[in-house]
Amino acid sequence: MTTTTPAPVRTPRPSRQVGRAQARKARKAAARLTPQALARELTEHILDAAAAKAAAAAQATTLAKAQLAEAEVQAWLKDMDARLELIFAHPEQNLGEIEEQLAVSVKEPLRLLAQRAAQVKANAAPCQCPDCHGELRQQRDLSRTICSRFGPLTLWRRYGWCPRCGEWHFPADYALGLGRKAPASPYLQEISALLVSKMPAEQAVLVAERLGLDMSRCGLHQEAHRQGLKAQEWRSGFVGQLDTWEQIQQLASAAAEGPPTQPFVLVIEIDAWDIRERDDWGKTEELRQQGKKPERWHWVYMATVFRLDHRGQTAGQRAVITQRGYAATRLGLEALSAQLYREALARGLGQAQLVLVIADGAIWIWNLAQDRFPQARQRLDLFHAEEHLWAVAHDLYGHGTPEAQAWVTPLLQQVRDDQTVAVISSLTELKPRLLEAQQKKVQTQIEYFQDNAPRMKYKEVLQAREACKQGKATEEQKQLANHPVGSGAIESACRQYQCRFKRTGQFWTTVGDEALMCVETLWRNGRWAQLYPHARSSAALN
Ligand SMILES: [Zn+2]
Repeated sequence: MTTTTPAPVRTPRPSRQVGRAQARKARKAAARLTPQALARELTEHILDAAAAKAAAAAQATTLAKAQLAEAEVQAWLKDMDARLELIFAHPEQNLGEIEEQLAVSVKEPLRLLAQRAAQVKANAAPCQCPDCHGELRQQRDLSRTICSRFGPLTLWRRYGWCPRCGEWHFPADYALGLGRKAPASPYLQEISALLVSKMPAEQAVLVAERLGLDMSRCGLHQEAHRQGLKAQEWRSGFVGQLDTWEQIQQLASAAAEGPPTQPFVLVIEIDAWDIRERDDWGKTEELRQQGKKPERWHWVYMATVFRLDHRGQTAGQRAVITQRGYAATRLGLEALSAQLYREALARGLGQAQLVLVIADGAIWIWNLAQDRFPQARQRLDLFHAEEHLWAVAHDLYGHGTPEAQAWVTPLLQQVRDDQTVAVISSLTELKPRLLEAQQKKVQTQIEYFQDNAPRMKYKEVLQAREACKQGKATEEQKQLANHPVGSGAIESACRQYQCRFKRTGQFWTTVGDEALMCVETLWRNGRWAQLYPHARSSAALN
Protein backbone atom coordinates (compact mmCIF):
# COMPACT_ATOMS: atom_id res chain seq x y z
CA MET A 1 0.00 0.00 0.00
CA THR A 2 1.63 3.29 -1.09
CA THR A 3 0.58 6.38 0.72
CA THR A 4 2.47 9.21 -0.96
CA THR A 5 0.56 9.92 -4.19
CA PRO A 6 -2.73 11.65 -3.54
CA ALA A 7 -5.65 9.58 -4.73
CA PRO A 8 -8.80 11.16 -6.17
CA VAL A 9 -10.87 12.81 -3.50
CA ARG A 10 -14.43 11.59 -3.21
CA THR A 11 -17.17 14.11 -2.78
CA PRO A 12 -19.44 12.56 -0.16
CA ARG A 13 -22.95 11.98 -1.40
CA PRO A 14 -25.59 13.83 0.65
CA SER A 15 -27.80 11.53 2.67
CA ARG A 16 -31.38 11.10 1.47
CA GLN A 17 -32.71 13.43 4.15
CA VAL A 18 -30.20 16.17 3.32
CA GLY A 19 -30.94 15.69 -0.38
CA ARG A 20 -34.67 16.12 0.18
CA ALA A 21 -34.14 19.25 2.29
CA GLN A 22 -31.93 20.75 -0.43
CA ALA A 23 -34.57 19.98 -3.05
CA ARG A 24 -37.29 21.62 -0.93
CA LYS A 25 -35.17 24.73 -0.50
CA ALA A 26 -34.50 24.86 -4.23
CA ARG A 27 -38.23 24.55 -5.00
CA LYS A 28 -39.08 27.42 -2.61
CA ALA A 29 -36.36 29.59 -4.11
CA ALA A 30 -37.55 28.72 -7.60
CA ALA A 31 -41.10 29.80 -6.70
CA ARG A 32 -39.83 33.34 -6.08
CA LEU A 33 -38.00 33.52 -9.40
CA THR A 34 -39.29 34.81 -12.74
CA PRO A 35 -39.75 32.16 -15.46
CA GLN A 36 -36.59 33.38 -17.27
CA ALA A 37 -34.51 33.31 -14.11
CA LEU A 38 -35.93 29.89 -13.26
CA ALA A 39 -34.95 28.50 -16.67
CA ARG A 40 -31.45 29.94 -16.27
CA GLU A 41 -31.15 28.46 -12.79
CA LEU A 42 -32.25 25.02 -13.96
CA THR A 43 -29.88 25.06 -16.94
CA GLU A 44 -27.00 26.01 -14.67
CA HIS A 45 -27.95 23.22 -12.30
CA ILE A 46 -28.04 20.64 -15.10
CA LEU A 47 -24.74 21.90 -16.50
CA ASP A 48 -23.12 21.74 -13.05
CA ALA A 49 -24.31 18.20 -12.48
CA ALA A 50 -23.11 17.15 -15.94
CA ALA A 51 -19.72 18.76 -15.36
CA ALA A 52 -19.35 17.04 -11.98
CA LYS A 53 -20.25 13.73 -13.57
CA ALA A 54 -17.81 14.24 -16.45
CA ALA A 55 -15.06 15.13 -13.99
CA ALA A 56 -15.75 12.01 -11.92
CA ALA A 57 -15.74 9.88 -15.08
CA ALA A 58 -12.51 11.48 -16.32
CA GLN A 59 -10.86 10.92 -12.97
CA ALA A 60 -12.01 7.31 -12.71
CA THR A 61 -11.31 6.27 -16.28
CA THR A 62 -7.71 7.46 -16.12
CA LEU A 63 -6.95 5.72 -12.83
CA ALA A 64 -3.95 3.43 -13.38
CA LYS A 65 -3.02 2.39 -9.85
CA ALA A 66 -5.08 1.34 -6.83
CA GLN A 67 -3.93 2.98 -3.64
CA LEU A 68 -5.05 4.91 -0.60
CA ALA A 69 -4.12 8.55 0.00
CA GLU A 70 -2.10 9.40 3.10
CA ALA A 71 -5.13 11.24 4.53
CA GLU A 72 -7.34 8.19 4.05
CA VAL A 73 -4.86 5.90 5.80
CA GLN A 74 -4.56 8.37 8.67
CA ALA A 75 -8.35 8.65 8.98
CA TRP A 76 -8.60 4.87 9.13
CA LEU A 77 -5.88 4.55 11.82
CA LYS A 78 -7.57 7.26 13.85
CA ASP A 79 -10.93 5.53 13.59
CA MET A 80 -9.40 2.24 14.65
CA ASP A 81 -7.68 3.85 17.65
CA ALA A 82 -10.92 5.42 18.77
CA ARG A 83 -12.75 2.09 18.57
CA LEU A 84 -10.04 0.25 20.51
CA GLU A 85 -9.93 2.98 23.17
CA LEU A 86 -13.65 2.53 23.69
CA ILE A 87 -13.27 -1.23 24.09
CA PHE A 88 -10.43 -0.81 26.59
CA ALA A 89 -12.62 1.58 28.57
CA HIS A 90 -15.20 -1.20 28.96
CA PRO A 91 -13.79 -4.13 30.95
CA GLU A 92 -16.84 -6.26 30.12
CA GLN A 93 -16.12 -6.19 26.38
CA ASN A 94 -14.13 -9.17 25.19
CA LEU A 95 -12.23 -10.30 22.08
CA GLY A 96 -15.56 -10.51 20.27
CA GLU A 97 -15.85 -6.72 20.42
CA ILE A 98 -12.28 -6.35 19.18
CA GLU A 99 -12.99 -8.64 16.23
CA GLU A 100 -16.23 -6.87 15.45
CA GLN A 101 -14.93 -3.31 15.68
CA LEU A 102 -11.71 -3.89 13.77
CA ALA A 103 -13.66 -5.56 10.97
CA VAL A 104 -15.97 -2.53 10.79
CA SER A 105 -13.07 -0.11 10.88
CA VAL A 106 -11.12 -1.72 8.07
CA LYS A 107 -14.13 -1.97 5.78
CA GLU A 108 -14.02 1.55 4.38
CA PRO A 109 -10.32 1.59 3.40
CA LEU A 110 -10.79 -1.85 1.85
CA ARG A 111 -13.87 -0.62 0.03
CA LEU A 112 -11.95 2.33 -1.41
CA LEU A 113 -9.08 0.10 -2.41
CA ALA A 114 -11.39 -2.49 -3.98
CA GLN A 115 -13.24 0.23 -5.87
CA ARG A 116 -10.02 1.66 -7.24
CA ALA A 117 -8.53 -1.76 -8.06
CA ALA A 118 -11.71 -2.73 -9.91
CA GLN A 119 -11.59 0.62 -11.71
CA VAL A 120 -8.00 -0.04 -12.81
CA LYS A 121 -9.11 -3.46 -14.14
CA ALA A 122 -12.07 -1.88 -15.91
CA ASN A 123 -9.83 0.76 -17.49
CA ALA A 124 -7.46 -1.93 -18.75
CA ALA A 125 -10.21 -3.91 -20.49
CA PRO A 126 -9.98 -3.28 -24.26
CA CYS A 127 -13.19 -1.78 -25.64
CA GLN A 128 -13.88 -4.75 -27.91
CA CYS A 129 -16.90 -6.93 -28.57
CA PRO A 130 -16.53 -10.03 -26.37
CA ASP A 131 -18.10 -12.18 -29.10
CA CYS A 132 -16.49 -11.04 -32.37
CA HIS A 133 -13.60 -9.04 -30.87
CA GLY A 134 -14.31 -6.08 -33.18
CA GLU A 135 -13.67 -2.53 -31.93
CA LEU A 136 -16.83 -1.08 -30.38
CA ARG A 137 -18.33 2.08 -31.87
CA GLN A 138 -19.88 5.19 -30.27
CA GLN A 139 -17.81 4.65 -27.14
CA ARG A 140 -19.02 6.29 -23.94
CA ASP A 141 -18.65 5.91 -20.17
CA LEU A 142 -21.33 4.86 -17.75
CA SER A 143 -21.18 4.36 -14.01
CA ARG A 144 -22.56 1.42 -12.10
CA THR A 145 -22.78 0.47 -8.43
CA ILE A 146 -21.72 -3.03 -7.43
CA CYS A 147 -22.41 -4.77 -4.11
CA SER A 148 -19.13 -6.19 -2.85
CA ARG A 149 -17.92 -7.86 0.34
CA PHE A 150 -16.62 -4.43 1.42
CA GLY A 151 -19.79 -2.52 0.58
CA PRO A 152 -21.00 -0.66 -2.53
CA LEU A 153 -18.41 0.13 -5.24
CA THR A 154 -19.07 2.72 -7.92
CA LEU A 155 -17.33 1.93 -11.19
CA TRP A 156 -17.10 3.69 -14.52
CA ARG A 157 -17.05 1.48 -17.58
CA ARG A 158 -16.39 2.33 -21.21
CA TYR A 159 -19.02 0.79 -23.45
CA GLY A 160 -19.91 0.78 -27.10
CA TRP A 161 -21.94 -0.62 -29.95
CA CYS A 162 -20.90 -3.65 -31.98
CA PRO A 163 -22.29 -3.14 -35.50
CA ARG A 164 -21.53 -6.74 -36.46
CA CYS A 165 -23.40 -8.32 -33.52
CA GLY A 166 -25.94 -5.47 -33.24
CA GLU A 167 -25.49 -5.10 -29.50
CA TRP A 168 -24.18 -2.73 -26.82
CA HIS A 169 -21.33 -4.21 -24.81
CA PHE A 170 -19.61 -3.36 -21.53
CA PRO A 171 -16.27 -5.21 -21.83
CA ALA A 172 -15.22 -4.15 -18.31
CA ASP A 173 -18.21 -6.02 -16.86
CA TYR A 174 -17.00 -9.23 -18.49
CA ALA A 175 -13.46 -8.61 -17.29
CA LEU A 176 -14.68 -8.11 -13.73
CA GLY A 177 -17.04 -11.10 -13.77
CA LEU A 178 -20.19 -9.03 -13.23
CA GLY A 179 -23.67 -10.07 -14.26
CA ARG A 180 -25.39 -7.94 -16.84
CA LYS A 181 -28.14 -6.64 -14.60
CA ALA A 182 -27.43 -8.06 -11.13
CA PRO A 183 -25.41 -5.91 -8.72
CA ALA A 184 -23.54 -8.72 -6.89
CA SER A 185 -19.77 -8.96 -7.16
CA PRO A 186 -18.36 -12.43 -7.93
CA TYR A 187 -17.68 -13.02 -4.23
CA LEU A 188 -21.24 -12.10 -3.30
CA GLN A 189 -22.52 -14.21 -6.21
CA GLU A 190 -20.69 -17.14 -4.66
CA ILE A 191 -21.89 -16.42 -1.14
CA SER A 192 -25.50 -16.10 -2.32
CA ALA A 193 -25.26 -19.50 -3.99
CA LEU A 194 -23.57 -21.05 -1.00
CA LEU A 195 -25.91 -19.72 1.65
CA VAL A 196 -29.19 -20.21 -0.18
CA SER A 197 -28.27 -23.77 -1.15
CA LYS A 198 -27.80 -24.49 2.56
CA MET A 199 -30.68 -22.55 4.12
CA PRO A 200 -33.80 -20.57 3.20
CA ALA A 201 -33.03 -17.09 1.79
CA GLU A 202 -34.67 -15.22 4.65
CA GLN A 203 -32.29 -16.91 7.09
CA ALA A 204 -29.35 -16.49 4.73
CA VAL A 205 -29.76 -12.69 4.71
CA LEU A 206 -29.40 -12.61 8.48
CA VAL A 207 -26.43 -14.98 8.50
CA ALA A 208 -24.73 -12.88 5.83
CA GLU A 209 -25.32 -9.78 7.91
CA ARG A 210 -23.56 -11.38 10.87
CA LEU A 211 -20.67 -12.21 8.57
CA GLY A 212 -20.39 -8.51 7.82
CA LEU A 213 -21.98 -8.70 4.38
CA ASP A 214 -24.78 -6.36 3.45
CA MET A 215 -26.69 -8.35 0.87
CA SER A 216 -30.01 -6.58 1.21
CA ARG A 217 -29.51 -4.79 -2.11
CA CYS A 218 -28.45 -7.92 -3.98
CA GLY A 219 -31.73 -9.78 -3.77
CA LEU A 220 -30.12 -12.85 -2.25
CA HIS A 221 -32.79 -15.23 -3.45
CA GLN A 222 -32.73 -14.03 -7.07
CA GLU A 223 -28.95 -13.98 -7.12
CA ALA A 224 -28.80 -17.56 -5.83
CA HIS A 225 -31.25 -18.58 -8.54
CA ARG A 226 -29.09 -16.90 -11.21
CA GLN A 227 -26.10 -18.80 -9.85
CA GLY A 228 -28.14 -22.01 -10.00
CA LEU A 229 -28.83 -21.43 -13.69
CA LYS A 230 -25.12 -20.77 -14.20
CA ALA A 231 -24.31 -24.03 -12.38
CA GLN A 232 -26.76 -25.90 -14.61
CA GLU A 233 -25.14 -24.44 -17.69
CA TRP A 234 -21.78 -25.65 -16.42
CA ARG A 235 -23.23 -29.09 -15.69
CA SER A 236 -24.72 -29.31 -19.20
CA GLY A 237 -21.26 -28.75 -20.62
CA PHE A 238 -19.76 -31.32 -18.25
CA VAL A 239 -22.37 -33.99 -19.01
CA GLY A 240 -22.31 -32.95 -22.69
CA GLN A 241 -18.80 -34.37 -22.89
CA LEU A 242 -20.53 -37.74 -23.23
CA ASP A 243 -21.96 -36.90 -26.63
CA THR A 244 -19.69 -39.11 -28.72
CA TRP A 245 -18.15 -42.55 -28.25
CA GLU A 246 -14.65 -41.07 -28.68
CA GLN A 247 -15.26 -38.54 -25.93
CA ILE A 248 -16.42 -41.25 -23.54
CA GLN A 249 -13.33 -43.33 -24.30
CA GLN A 250 -11.15 -40.33 -23.71
CA LEU A 251 -12.80 -39.55 -20.38
CA ALA A 252 -12.63 -43.18 -19.26
CA SER A 253 -8.89 -43.34 -19.85
CA ALA A 254 -8.22 -39.78 -18.63
CA ALA A 255 -8.94 -40.73 -15.02
CA ALA A 256 -6.19 -43.39 -15.27
CA GLU A 257 -3.45 -40.82 -15.74
CA GLY A 258 -1.08 -40.12 -12.91
CA PRO A 259 0.57 -42.71 -10.69
CA PRO A 260 -0.86 -46.23 -11.02
CA THR A 261 -3.31 -47.06 -8.26
CA GLN A 262 -4.10 -50.29 -6.45
CA PRO A 263 -7.04 -52.23 -7.90
CA PHE A 264 -10.18 -50.68 -6.46
CA VAL A 265 -13.94 -51.26 -6.18
CA LEU A 266 -16.23 -48.48 -7.37
CA VAL A 267 -19.50 -48.33 -5.43
CA ILE A 268 -22.61 -46.74 -6.92
CA GLU A 269 -25.71 -46.23 -4.78
CA ILE A 270 -29.02 -44.96 -6.15
CA ASP A 271 -32.25 -43.79 -4.50
CA ALA A 272 -35.05 -41.24 -4.80
CA TRP A 273 -37.15 -38.98 -2.61
CA ASP A 274 -40.02 -36.66 -3.33
CA ILE A 275 -40.24 -32.88 -3.37
CA ARG A 276 -43.26 -30.61 -3.26
CA GLU A 277 -43.75 -28.14 -6.07
CA ARG A 278 -46.06 -25.27 -6.77
CA ASP A 279 -47.18 -26.49 -10.21
CA ASP A 280 -50.74 -25.68 -11.18
CA TRP A 281 -50.70 -23.17 -8.33
CA GLY A 282 -53.99 -21.36 -8.07
CA LYS A 283 -55.66 -23.85 -10.40
CA THR A 284 -56.57 -26.32 -7.67
CA GLU A 285 -60.30 -25.58 -7.78
CA GLU A 286 -60.41 -25.60 -11.56
CA LEU A 287 -58.63 -28.97 -11.69
CA ARG A 288 -60.90 -30.44 -9.03
CA GLN A 289 -63.93 -29.45 -11.02
CA GLN A 290 -62.45 -31.32 -13.97
CA GLY A 291 -62.13 -34.33 -11.68
CA LYS A 292 -58.33 -34.06 -11.61
CA LYS A 293 -56.15 -33.96 -8.55
CA PRO A 294 -53.30 -31.45 -8.77
CA GLU A 295 -50.01 -33.31 -8.51
CA ARG A 296 -47.62 -31.57 -6.15
CA TRP A 297 -45.12 -34.27 -5.23
CA HIS A 298 -42.37 -35.17 -7.68
CA TRP A 299 -39.37 -37.49 -7.63
CA VAL A 300 -35.87 -36.23 -7.08
CA TYR A 301 -33.49 -38.91 -8.33
CA MET A 302 -30.16 -39.23 -6.61
CA ALA A 303 -27.00 -41.27 -6.76
CA THR A 304 -23.61 -41.29 -5.15
CA VAL A 305 -20.40 -42.88 -6.41
CA PHE A 306 -17.17 -43.54 -4.55
CA ARG A 307 -14.14 -45.78 -4.45
CA LEU A 308 -14.14 -48.29 -1.65
CA ASP A 309 -10.58 -47.35 -0.72
CA HIS A 310 -11.79 -43.78 -0.16
CA ARG A 311 -14.01 -44.96 2.63
CA GLY A 312 -12.54 -45.00 6.09
CA GLN A 313 -13.22 -44.33 9.74
CA THR A 314 -12.70 -41.30 11.90
CA ALA A 315 -10.89 -41.56 15.21
CA GLY A 316 -14.35 -41.89 16.76
CA GLN A 317 -15.10 -44.98 14.57
CA ARG A 318 -17.56 -43.05 12.42
CA ALA A 319 -17.59 -44.11 8.76
CA VAL A 320 -16.47 -41.37 6.36
CA ILE A 321 -16.00 -41.26 2.63
CA THR A 322 -13.20 -38.84 1.85
CA GLN A 323 -13.96 -38.41 -1.85
CA ARG A 324 -17.29 -39.04 -3.46
CA GLY A 325 -19.42 -37.84 -6.31
CA TYR A 326 -23.11 -37.03 -6.32
CA ALA A 327 -25.83 -36.73 -8.91
CA ALA A 328 -29.19 -35.22 -8.04
CA THR A 329 -31.96 -34.07 -10.32
CA ARG A 330 -35.63 -33.36 -10.57
CA LEU A 331 -35.50 -33.62 -14.37
CA GLY A 332 -36.19 -37.35 -14.67
CA LEU A 333 -34.35 -40.62 -15.00
CA GLU A 334 -32.58 -39.78 -18.26
CA ALA A 335 -31.03 -36.75 -16.60
CA LEU A 336 -29.93 -38.76 -13.57
CA SER A 337 -28.53 -41.50 -15.75
CA ALA A 338 -26.34 -39.08 -17.74
CA GLN A 339 -25.16 -37.14 -14.68
CA LEU A 340 -24.35 -40.30 -12.77
CA TYR A 341 -22.48 -41.86 -15.67
CA ARG A 342 -20.38 -38.72 -16.13
CA GLU A 343 -19.63 -38.61 -12.41
CA ALA A 344 -18.72 -42.32 -12.37
CA LEU A 345 -16.27 -41.76 -15.23
CA ALA A 346 -14.68 -38.91 -13.29
CA ARG A 347 -14.38 -41.17 -10.24
CA GLY A 348 -12.63 -44.03 -12.03
CA LEU A 349 -15.31 -46.13 -13.77
CA GLY A 350 -12.82 -46.86 -16.54
CA GLN A 351 -10.21 -48.24 -14.12
CA ALA A 352 -12.29 -50.01 -11.47
CA GLN A 353 -11.63 -53.69 -10.91
CA LEU A 354 -15.22 -54.16 -9.85
CA VAL A 355 -18.28 -51.90 -10.00
CA LEU A 356 -20.89 -52.55 -7.34
CA VAL A 357 -24.39 -51.05 -7.59
CA ILE A 358 -26.36 -51.11 -4.34
CA ALA A 359 -29.95 -49.97 -3.88
CA ASP A 360 -33.38 -50.96 -2.65
CA GLY A 361 -35.69 -52.99 -4.86
CA ALA A 362 -37.06 -50.21 -7.12
CA ILE A 363 -37.24 -51.54 -10.66
CA TRP A 364 -36.15 -48.27 -12.33
CA ILE A 365 -32.86 -48.45 -10.46
CA TRP A 366 -31.99 -51.88 -11.81
CA ASN A 367 -33.03 -50.87 -15.31
CA LEU A 368 -30.73 -47.86 -15.08
CA ALA A 369 -27.89 -50.00 -13.70
CA GLN A 370 -28.35 -52.55 -16.49
CA ASP A 371 -28.39 -49.81 -19.11
CA ARG A 372 -25.41 -47.73 -17.92
CA PHE A 373 -23.29 -50.21 -15.98
CA PRO A 374 -24.01 -53.61 -17.57
CA GLN A 375 -20.80 -55.14 -16.16
CA ALA A 376 -21.56 -54.05 -12.62
CA ARG A 377 -22.42 -56.43 -9.80
CA GLN A 378 -25.88 -55.61 -8.42
CA ARG A 379 -26.71 -55.92 -4.75
CA LEU A 380 -30.05 -55.44 -3.04
CA ASP A 381 -29.72 -53.43 0.17
CA LEU A 382 -29.75 -56.09 2.91
CA PHE A 383 -31.77 -53.99 5.31
CA HIS A 384 -34.53 -53.47 2.75
CA ALA A 385 -34.68 -57.23 2.20
CA GLU A 386 -34.96 -57.77 5.95
CA GLU A 387 -37.64 -55.11 6.21
CA HIS A 388 -39.76 -57.01 3.71
CA LEU A 389 -39.63 -60.13 5.90
CA TRP A 390 -40.43 -58.12 9.00
CA ALA A 391 -43.46 -56.71 7.19
CA VAL A 392 -44.82 -60.27 6.73
CA ALA A 393 -43.99 -61.17 10.35
CA HIS A 394 -45.84 -58.13 11.70
CA ASP A 395 -48.77 -58.79 9.45
CA LEU A 396 -49.08 -62.40 10.64
CA TYR A 397 -48.27 -62.08 14.33
CA GLY A 398 -48.58 -58.40 15.24
CA HIS A 399 -46.01 -55.69 15.82
CA GLY A 400 -43.17 -56.50 18.22
CA THR A 401 -44.64 -59.84 19.39
CA PRO A 402 -42.37 -62.77 20.38
CA GLU A 403 -44.22 -64.86 17.75
CA ALA A 404 -43.25 -62.43 15.00
CA GLN A 405 -39.65 -62.55 16.21
CA ALA A 406 -39.69 -66.35 16.35
CA TRP A 407 -41.11 -66.65 12.86
CA VAL A 408 -38.76 -64.14 11.21
CA THR A 409 -35.44 -65.15 12.82
CA PRO A 410 -34.67 -68.28 10.73
CA LEU A 411 -35.75 -66.44 7.56
CA LEU A 412 -33.43 -63.50 8.29
CA GLN A 413 -30.61 -66.00 8.72
CA GLN A 414 -31.49 -67.62 5.38
CA VAL A 415 -31.25 -64.23 3.69
CA ARG A 416 -27.80 -63.70 5.19
CA ASP A 417 -26.79 -67.18 4.07
CA ASP A 418 -27.81 -66.48 0.44
CA GLN A 419 -30.63 -69.03 0.71
CA THR A 420 -33.21 -66.88 -1.04
CA VAL A 421 -34.76 -69.99 -2.60
CA ALA A 422 -35.52 -71.31 0.90
CA VAL A 423 -37.06 -67.96 1.88
CA ILE A 424 -39.29 -68.04 -1.18
CA SER A 425 -40.45 -71.62 -0.51
CA SER A 426 -41.19 -70.80 3.15
CA LEU A 427 -43.40 -67.94 2.03
CA THR A 428 -45.01 -70.07 -0.68
CA GLU A 429 -45.83 -72.86 1.81
CA LEU A 430 -47.30 -70.32 4.17
CA LYS A 431 -49.64 -68.80 1.61
CA PRO A 432 -52.49 -71.42 1.37
CA ARG A 433 -53.06 -71.23 5.13
CA LEU A 434 -53.80 -67.50 5.06
CA LEU A 435 -56.82 -65.30 4.48
CA GLU A 436 -57.21 -63.84 1.02
CA ALA A 437 -55.99 -60.35 1.96
CA GLN A 438 -52.91 -61.77 3.64
CA GLN A 439 -52.29 -64.09 0.70
CA LYS A 440 -52.06 -61.08 -1.61
CA LYS A 441 -49.54 -59.36 0.63
CA VAL A 442 -47.39 -62.47 0.91
CA GLN A 443 -47.55 -62.95 -2.87
CA THR A 444 -46.16 -59.42 -3.31
CA GLN A 445 -43.25 -60.32 -1.05
CA ILE A 446 -42.66 -63.60 -2.89
CA GLU A 447 -42.38 -61.66 -6.14
CA TYR A 448 -40.03 -59.15 -4.52
CA PHE A 449 -37.65 -61.93 -3.48
CA GLN A 450 -37.99 -63.71 -6.82
CA ASP A 451 -37.14 -60.51 -8.72
CA ASN A 452 -34.19 -59.69 -6.50
CA ALA A 453 -32.80 -63.17 -5.82
CA PRO A 454 -29.75 -62.70 -8.09
CA ARG A 455 -28.89 -59.50 -6.17
CA MET A 456 -29.10 -61.09 -2.73
CA LYS A 457 -25.54 -62.25 -2.18
CA TYR A 458 -24.34 -61.31 1.29
CA LYS A 459 -22.81 -64.48 2.68
CA GLU A 460 -19.19 -64.10 1.61
CA VAL A 461 -19.05 -60.47 2.82
CA LEU A 462 -20.63 -61.31 6.19
CA GLN A 463 -18.39 -64.35 6.58
CA ALA A 464 -15.35 -62.22 5.78
CA ARG A 465 -16.39 -59.72 8.46
CA GLU A 466 -16.78 -62.51 10.99
CA ALA A 467 -13.34 -63.90 10.06
CA CYS A 468 -11.83 -60.42 10.53
CA LYS A 469 -13.41 -60.17 13.97
CA GLN A 470 -11.87 -63.51 14.96
CA GLY A 471 -8.52 -62.52 13.47
CA LYS A 472 -8.67 -65.43 11.03
CA ALA A 473 -9.28 -63.53 7.78
CA THR A 474 -7.35 -64.24 4.60
CA GLU A 475 -6.08 -61.30 2.52
CA GLU A 476 -9.03 -61.71 0.21
CA GLN A 477 -11.46 -61.71 3.12
CA LYS A 478 -9.92 -58.52 4.50
CA GLN A 479 -10.80 -56.83 1.22
CA LEU A 480 -14.25 -58.39 1.05
CA ALA A 481 -15.14 -57.37 4.60
CA ASN A 482 -15.16 -53.76 3.44
CA HIS A 483 -17.77 -54.31 0.73
CA PRO A 484 -21.03 -52.64 1.72
CA VAL A 485 -24.19 -54.72 1.98
CA GLY A 486 -26.43 -51.70 2.52
CA SER A 487 -27.10 -48.45 0.69
CA GLY A 488 -26.61 -46.22 3.73
CA ALA A 489 -24.38 -43.78 1.85
CA ILE A 490 -27.13 -42.71 -0.54
CA GLU A 491 -29.80 -42.78 2.13
CA SER A 492 -27.86 -40.33 4.27
CA ALA A 493 -27.18 -38.16 1.20
CA CYS A 494 -30.92 -38.07 0.46
CA ARG A 495 -31.64 -37.05 4.03
CA GLN A 496 -29.09 -34.25 3.83
CA TYR A 497 -30.68 -32.86 0.66
CA GLN A 498 -34.09 -33.15 2.26
CA CYS A 499 -32.94 -31.04 5.20
CA ARG A 500 -32.79 -28.13 2.75
CA PHE A 501 -35.34 -29.04 0.10
CA LYS A 502 -38.10 -30.70 2.07
CA ARG A 503 -38.89 -28.39 4.93
CA THR A 504 -42.33 -28.04 6.40
CA GLY A 505 -44.51 -25.75 4.35
CA GLN A 506 -41.95 -25.48 1.57
CA PHE A 507 -43.03 -25.33 -2.07
CA TRP A 508 -40.68 -25.14 -5.03
CA THR A 509 -40.85 -24.53 -8.73
CA THR A 510 -39.13 -27.08 -10.95
CA VAL A 511 -36.81 -24.38 -12.26
CA GLY A 512 -36.02 -23.20 -8.75
CA ASP A 513 -35.35 -26.52 -7.05
CA GLU A 514 -33.31 -27.93 -9.92
CA ALA A 515 -31.10 -24.81 -10.06
CA LEU A 516 -30.39 -24.81 -6.36
CA MET A 517 -29.87 -28.57 -6.17
CA CYS A 518 -27.36 -28.20 -8.97
CA VAL A 519 -25.44 -25.64 -6.87
CA GLU A 520 -25.50 -27.97 -3.86
CA THR A 521 -24.26 -30.91 -5.94
CA LEU A 522 -21.48 -28.85 -7.52
CA TRP A 523 -20.29 -27.91 -4.05
CA ARG A 524 -20.43 -31.50 -2.79
CA ASN A 525 -18.61 -32.77 -5.86
CA GLY A 526 -15.67 -30.49 -5.11
CA ARG A 527 -16.12 -28.55 -8.37
CA TRP A 528 -16.95 -25.20 -6.80
CA ALA A 529 -13.96 -23.46 -8.32
CA GLN A 530 -15.28 -24.29 -11.81
CA LEU A 531 -17.96 -21.70 -11.17
CA TYR A 532 -15.99 -19.46 -8.82
CA PRO A 533 -12.33 -19.44 -9.85
CA HIS A 534 -11.56 -16.96 -7.06
CA ALA A 535 -12.44 -19.73 -4.58
CA ARG A 536 -9.63 -21.94 -5.91
CA SER A 537 -7.21 -20.67 -3.30
CA SER A 538 -9.47 -21.86 -0.49
CA ALA A 539 -8.85 -25.15 1.28
CA ALA A 540 -10.60 -28.37 0.21
CA LEU A 541 -14.22 -27.61 -0.39
CA ASN A 542 -15.66 -31.08 -0.46
ZN1 LIG B 1 -19.56 -8.32 -32.01
